[in-house]
Amino acid sequence: MKFGTKVIHAGIEPDPSTGAIMTPIYQTSTYVQESPGVHKGFEYARTQNPTRHALQANLAALENAKEAISFASGLAAMDNILKMLKPGDEIISTNDLYGGSYRLMVKVYEKFGLKSHFIDMSDAQNVEDHINENTKLIWIETPTNPMLQIIDVAAITQIAKAKGVTTCVDNTFASPYLQNPLDLGADMVLHSATKYIGGHSDVIHGCVMTNDQAIADELKFLQNAAGAVPAPMDCFLILRGIKTLHLRVQRSCENARKIAEYLRGHAKVSKVYYPGFEDHPGHDIAAKQMKDFGGMVSFDLHENNYEAAEKILSHTHLFSLAESLGGVESLIGHPASMTHASIPVEERLKVGLTDSLIRLSVGVEDADDLIADLKSAIG
Ligand SMILES: *Cc1c(COP(=O)(O)O)cnc(C)c1O
Repeated sequence: MKFGTKVIHAGIEPDPSTGAIMTPIYQTSTYVQESPGVHKGFEYARTQNPTRHALQANLAALENAKEAISFASGLAAMDNILKMLKPGDEIISTNDLYGGSYRLMVKVYEKFGLKSHFIDMSDAQNVEDHINENTKLIWIETPTNPMLQIIDVAAITQIAKAKGVTTCVDNTFASPYLQNPLDLGADMVLHSATKYIGGHSDVIHGCVMTNDQAIADELKFLQNAAGAVPAPMDCFLILRGIKTLHLRVQRSCENARKIAEYLRGHAKVSKVYYPGFEDHPGHDIAAKQMKDFGGMVSFDLHENNYEAAEKILSHTHLFSLAESLGGVESLIGHPASMTHASIPVEERLKVGLTDSLIRLSVGVEDADDLIADLKSAIG
């Protein structure tokens, strides 16, 4: 089945009790048993829920995975991956990481004995140089947020495999429509389904996909044992959002390209970060591992201070000033004070995340209107 068919049909069966074409919201906490231990495969809703099962089957198909395990949020999904590690284990990750992932690794898990190293992963050799006998997990995010660096998933997973290190790719920014890390050799893929997969800015959700049965079994155990499960209503909303995933992402990519080109020609803009540009350092790898270059664009200003950025951030009308990304509506954000506020200043300046950097999540509106909105705000 190809992607556009999978989003509609994979894992979805008419409801066995009524034939309802859409998976019902099974809003129940428990299931009646005929006699002790005799039941229809459903005992308690933290452990099993038919709405969640349908969603997990659909999510697995999107990443060409055998299994998907859903959680209450992207960070809950990551939390459960980190729970598979032990004190003394070490993680290697990128120096341009989603702020919440950085916070979880450092501010939550350091005190449980996990050590995380944040390095430049755009050079695969640098990753190999940092692996030691305690390295148990390599955490890749590509394109990175908000600098839109590209990391070579195939090159790094190959190195990791040779050293027996598990890899996980946070594929939130690309979406499963543009990039499938399991096919490139990764052991796990994580999504904040809050973003492109849900796509309508109305639900928080996370998931992990894998083809490794031991990992899947452990995550299913943790999903039940630690209990960060998604609500049935949320599973329904994600399933509904997925049906247009390919259409939404395609339009976002088209709009993002036009906007990146517009910004690059603007006199007040000093730099545009967009992997679709041929002179972007990761362009060739992006072209190899992604179907298109995504809906995210970041840019910086010649007037390199917060005040200059603030003027733009508070004067757009179609681009709403908000955290998050991947919805049908366009968003504008200020990483230094919003999504990346928990990252130390020295760390963020190292990767170019200045006080004047602005990040756009380009939605599916008409590109001409979006460009006109930016034009009036930038001046
Ligand atoms: C939003 C986001 C997360 C966290 O997901 P939540 O659903 O907000 O918990 C993780 N990684 C990336 C890249 C994100 O953008």
